Amino acid sequence: MARSFFITGTDTDAGKSIVTAGLLRALAAKGVPARAVKPVQTGCMPVNGLNEAPDVQLYRKAGGRGKALKAFGVPCSPHLAARLEHARLDLAELARACRAEAAGVDIVLFEGAGGLYVPLNEQDTMLDLMRELMLPVLLVVANRLGCINHAILSLDALENAGIDTAGIVLCRTLPPSIPDPGTATGAETAILEENARFLKGLAGKRQIPFLADIPFIPNFSPEDPYAWHRLEALLMPAAEHLLGVASCDAADASPKSGMSDLATQPALSAQEILDFDRAHLWHPYTSALAPLPVREVTGTSGARILLRGGQELIDGMSSWWCALHGYGNKSLVKAAQRQAARFSHVMFGGLTHAPAVELGRRLLPLLPKGLEHIFYADSGSVAVEVAMKMAVQFWRSLGNTEKSRFVALRGAYHGDTTGAMSLCDPVTGMHALFTGLLPRQIFVERPTCRFHEPYDPRSFHPMERALREHAAKIAAVVIEPVVQGAGGMWFYHPQYIKSLRSLCDELGMLLIADEIATGFGRTGRMFAYEWAGITPDILCMGKAMTGGMMTFSAVAATAETAGGISTAPPERGGGLFMHGPTFMANPLACAVACASIDTLLASPWRERVSAIEHSLSQGLAPCRGLPGVADVRVLGAIGVVETEQPVDVERWQDFFVACGVWIRPFGHTVYVMPPLIASPDDLARLTRALCAAARSAASHGGTPQIKDVPPPLS
Ligand code: PMP
Repeated sequence: MARSFFITGTDTDAGKSIVTAGLLRALAAKGVPARAVKPVQTGCMPVNGLNEAPDVQLYRKAGGRGKALKAFGVPCSPHLAARLEHARLDLAELARACRAEAAGVDIVLFEGAGGLYVPLNEQDTMLDLMRELMLPVLLVVANRLGCINHAILSLDALENAGIDTAGIVLCRTLPPSIPDPGTATGAETAILEENARFLKGLAGKRQIPFLADIPFIPNFSPEDPYAWHRLEALLMPAAEHLLGVASCDAADASPKSGMSDLATQPALSAQEILDFDRAHLWHPYTSALAPLPVREVTGTSGARILLRGGQELIDGMSSWWCALHGYGNKSLVKAAQRQAARFSHVMFGGLTHAPAVELGRRLLPLLPKGLEHIFYADSGSVAVEVAMKMAVQFWRSLGNTEKSRFVALRGAYHGDTTGAMSLCDPVTGMHALFTGLLPRQIFVERPTCRFHEPYDPRSFHPMERALREHAAKIAAVVIEPVVQGAGGMWFYHPQYIKSLRSLCDELGMLLIADEIATGFGRTGRMFAYEWAGITPDILCMGKAMTGGMMTFSAVAATAETAGGISTAPPERGGGLFMHGPTFMANPLACAVACASIDTLLASPWRERVSAIEHSLSQGLAPCRGLPGVADVRVLGAIGVVETEQPVDVERWQDFFVACGVWIRPFGHTVYVMPPLIASPDDLARLTRALCAAARSAASHGGTPQIKDVPPPLS
């Protein structure tokens, strides 16, 4: 994609085709191989039984090469032209075809149809195709009355879509003798000159190169080379600029306009990015000086992550389980943009706002009756800290200062801040490193009752013993309901949680459900505690709450818990809950979370999760019984292959990336948690890669070999 550009216009008949054809000539004159591609062409006249694309004819007249990927007869919007021929344009398919075109050595100029918001189908527009391709865009502005407005709207739309504008070309397509509607004859020249002056200034302010001002050129015909020569000369600086951008991109094989997103700074090469990252940026759970390798992401779309160099990976991780709807979901992006344009943050002390209230109004109906007070926090770990503080403060408010310890399960993971870390498995949670720092909690063995097997009440005995023994000191029991996540992806029986709820009530201790990983549908229920039909006293939510767009979390407490804290006399805290992060109830995050919940509820998410469960169960079944595989299990949209030995993360990841998937194992756990929008084909590719890795590892001492990467599926 490195040597390609997208040419779009401010409107229909802005002059895109003339500019594209002229650029082909100018590039040819510089000896650069270039082609033009129309992703969609409408208005194709049947010539010799073929649908001949008019723009392709023009490219040919200019002496250039080109083709249309989709051609329709009627000259109208692509969505309608397709529909009139009983067809439908599919965005992903079109993007794939464009990427295939761009894969060669030629410079490819993709010419859009009409302006940015021209519909391709009922949902997608030409701008969505540009976003999928993420190529630098050349904007052709029709020099006519109203064009400044159209140019600004187009530039803003491109910028909001995160697309680089490589340059602006102003083009006059109408002869001077035909005044535009509303243009007083005689004033026309002044208007056209003012358009050019204004747009040059605007381009300068936005640091976008103004590349050409093309006057009306009559008579583009193969017989009369003069018009073409003139156009070529006028577009030569534009062609040279594009070549500069292309050669800078070719050096590191990434699509961009030559300016970084930070606009004023020159773009960094792939190597510069990796070098700086390695030298200065700390990554999770790795060394600062000898870190595990990283790969640079340049874009995301749906269930895909795009790497520098153009490789696409199907995301099996949902970015650590948060990108529930995949990436670039339009409603989420719009919600963030809309809220950012209004106000992105205000303190929550003494102020409130609609996004916070709207989110609360969406969360409450998802929760069981009783959970009715919501505290917004910054991240999952902070939510756990808040929940712990609530539990301790609850008992202190009642005059009980003894109850300040927590019970957690072995194999648990609750976060990386100090309090949350104290609840993580003492071995896999690396507690030993922090001896002395962490509060000492009470650990109970991991529930042995598996989710899909008949419940054995004896599995609850260790918990029962611990709770009865330490009841006086216990503020709360903290669990990840049904699925223990980062501690090993263990699925246990809901009856265990039911018994736990009863015993907490009997012995007087709170039950905290950490649904940061499981909340919002992942296990097939909105929250995993629903499998047990219980209500926790305190519930932590995070990750998928914002659909993975930004960090955010919420803690819901029952009226009883909140009431206990709030009615304390002055000597016991005076009813104030003592926590208040700077970014509490961040309006941007609240707005995105609202959009994410709406998107989830409007989707057939239960059916999707059960279809994913089915695909993962079938797809991972071949791993069962392989040497080195200890267990294969699936619950909801989570599929796990547990290995007997800990995996070599780097080597397994290399294998997965070579398979075109993004799966990051840890410890003994190789697992997938795909976005709920993953297609059956995406799921098949994920499980195929996982099985291939497990098979290869089985015959190579536990580490998959690149030579065993299966051939790509067509
Ligand atoms: N609790 C659970 C169950 C989690 O899975 C995680 C994150 N993996 C956390 C807490 C911590 O969340 P965060 O990373 O947002 O701090």
